[in-house]
Amino acid sequence: MPAEKEEVEDNTDANMEGALIARDRVGVQDFVLLDSHTSETAFLNNLRKRYQENLIYTYIGTLLVSVNPYKELDIYTVTQMQLYRGVNFFELPPHLYAIADNAYRVMCSEYNNHFILISGESGAGKTEASKKILQYYAVTCPTTEQLQIVRDRLLLSNPVLEAFGNAKTLRNDNSSRFGKYMDIQFDFKGAPVGGHILSYLIEKSRVVHQNHGERNFHIFYQLLEGGDKDLLCWLGLERNPQKYAYLIQGRCAKVFSINDKNDWKIVRKAFSIIDFTEKDIEHLFGIVASVLHLGNIQFEEDSNGHAIIRDGTQIKWISKVLSPLNVDLAFYARDAVAKAIYGRTFTWLVNKINGSLANKDSTRKTVIGLLDIYGFEVLDTNSFEQFCINYCNEKLQQLLIEMTLKAEQEEYELEGIEWEPIPYFNNKIICDLVEQKHKGIISILPSSLVVLRNNIALNISDEGEVCSEQRVIWCLLFQDEECLRPGEATDLSFLEKLEEKVGDHAHFVTRKLADQKTRKSIDWVDFRLLHYAGEVTYCAVGFLEKNNDLLYRNLKEVLCNSKNGIIRDCFLLSELDNRRRPETVATQFKNSLTSLIEILMSKEPSYVRCIKPNENKEPGKFDDYLIRHQVKYLGLMEHLRVRRAGFAYRRKYELFLQRYKSLCPATWPHWHGPAAEGVERLIKHIGYKPEEYKLGRFINGFINRKKPLCPENTEFV
Ligand code: ATP
Ligand code: MG
Repeated sequence: MPAEKEEVEDNTDANMEGALIARDRVGVQDFVLLDSHTSETAFLNNLRKRYQENLIYTYIGTLLVSVNPYKELDIYTVTQMQLYRGVNFFELPPHLYAIADNAYRVMCSEYNNHFILISGESGAGKTEASKKILQYYAVTCPTTEQLQIVRDRLLLSNPVLEAFGNAKTLRNDNSSRFGKYMDIQFDFKGAPVGGHILSYLIEKSRVVHQNHGERNFHIFYQLLEGGDKDLLCWLGLERNPQKYAYLIQGRCAKVFSINDKNDWKIVRKAFSIIDFTEKDIEHLFGIVASVLHLGNIQFEEDSNGHAIIRDGTQIKWISKVLSPLNVDLAFYARDAVAKAIYGRTFTWLVNKINGSLANKDSTRKTVIGLLDIYGFEVLDTNSFEQFCINYCNEKLQQLLIEMTLKAEQEEYELEGIEWEPIPYFNNKIICDLVEQKHKGIISILPSSLVVLRNNIALNISDEGEVCSEQRVIWCLLFQDEECLRPGEATDLSFLEKLEEKVGDHAHFVTRKLADQKTRKSIDWVDFRLLHYAGEVTYCAVGFLEKNNDLLYRNLKEVLCNSKNGIIRDCFLLSELDNRRRPETVATQFKNSLTSLIEILMSKEPSYVRCIKPNENKEPGKFDDYLIRHQVKYLGLMEHLRVRRAGFAYRRKYELFLQRYKSLCPATWPHWHGPAAEGVERLIKHIGYKPEEYKLGRFINGFINRKKPLCPENTEFV
């Protein structure tokens, strides 16, 4: 029996009353069964009732809605996993395991590829859900002794990537600061035999700057807390995080919910299982330590106004390379190196893990992809990072609309089935605002950088000539328009351009337009986007610099010749010869999202929509206002309406006939005519009323039950 208090109801009269009482207490486990299916309040009441009974999962048809419990529930045990294994989707209470099992079963029987899209805002529970699904496969799928190692590596890739890619933010103590798509590969017997991870845009700026109440990436604290004395001594580190400039800005090195020491042990163990050599590990920690050392380098001015390193015992080459710069630029360059080293090491780490997960055998495999990306976020000050994260969430919302609301309604039309269209908000308009060719915000960003890039490229080949380079970066940092030649860009000229090119757009507001459009004032360096999930005001300062991702050529040269093998792998000499203008960060991100969407569109989808119940990470607290907002923007009501008005169960004629032909003498044991006619005979024989089903034009047979067999047991048997 599942640990949930829900039970699978049977259909006898004696149990009917009990079922109704239970329903009153715990709500319905599929929103499709709500009496008042158009009311947002009824939807919320049902969600609240269930949440208060620790029933965090509810279906809308086959979509799973999950509300973060913020406490450990006893529903993820091996017994629970076994319970859901191989059982028909609606036969047990809603669970992540049912979603995972369903995708797996269909994959095995139809031999096709799947993905599970887990979405929701920051802190809603996406990463936890994706880990639980992976654990489910690790426990329930067939395996051999040989394959155990793959299973362990798949599982242990998580703590490593979380250590380097997650951090405590105000919204979430373990917030993903990178996007992750992981394919789990299965052989023809359904055994997991390999995997592949794609990572998306890690938030490098966190390495050098954290907001109040936030931390740097977990790995720094883990190393200091958990690393043994000899290791720290070898790395020249002290145990106290307060000693490191890159760790003290957020003023919260210690976090109650995080056990850095313990996590360190897990990460260390993971390294040895994921095929890291001792040399790799040594180099990796060397990099983590050197980032901390870099952060502690302080500069002061000499008599010529040039930066010199304050403490002579610090690394000499930094001084040599940076000395022609003034102090501000020296700090800028220092941080750029730290960010570049960390960002590229993260990519190296993902590649390394992929190497160890790779399955070399060439037989055909099917995959289930798990998508867990950073959730939509609104901070007090939102910068380029939030712009990218929120754009990514827009894209996923768009995919969901395309694959559910839009596709569903178009299918009825295609099948020639009468249908009352259900209106929904299509966020394509916002995606276009951000990414459209020549007109979108991303294209406005790099176009103003051409001059800047060339400028630097010219100067760099010209040894010792750093004045102009300095000048441009100075402009970037301090918005000093005076020192710019016409045509050169600043964050301000970027804002001007935005106003000129997208000022009319319904989802865009700048300070000039703020009063007319929203009546809310807006700062002079800000612009505001009306995202599907709410308004976000972005501070344009730093947009160009972050998008451009500058790194001095001479610093790159130093890194290319590093003795650290990982750094050498990350900074190839060939990069120095490349004269082509590299793509900007936003353009690269846009392209990688476009290919992600293509990957997903070619697979069968399952959806998990995660909801964050309150802003305080508090168990049991159901904040109506916050949840109603999420229900709205996630489009859950529209999804429910489409589901409810539509035909919840559909099958191709052939498959339907194959499955149920034994119920009708005319079709059993064989039906020799067209499959559609066989299906018609069969359902008439069973006694369905004409309004309960529809037959599609050429592809599918649609069957719908308006009234399920009993209130708690859903859909179709
Ligand atoms: P982000 O977008 O910031 O990465 P997220 O959606 O991935 O956010 P998670 O890290 O999965 O959020 O969840 C935040 C926290 O909520 C977890 O660290 C955990 O404490 C709690 N939590 C989430 N899901 C569950 C669950 N099913 N059971 C218990 N606790 C959970
Ligand atoms: Mg996450």
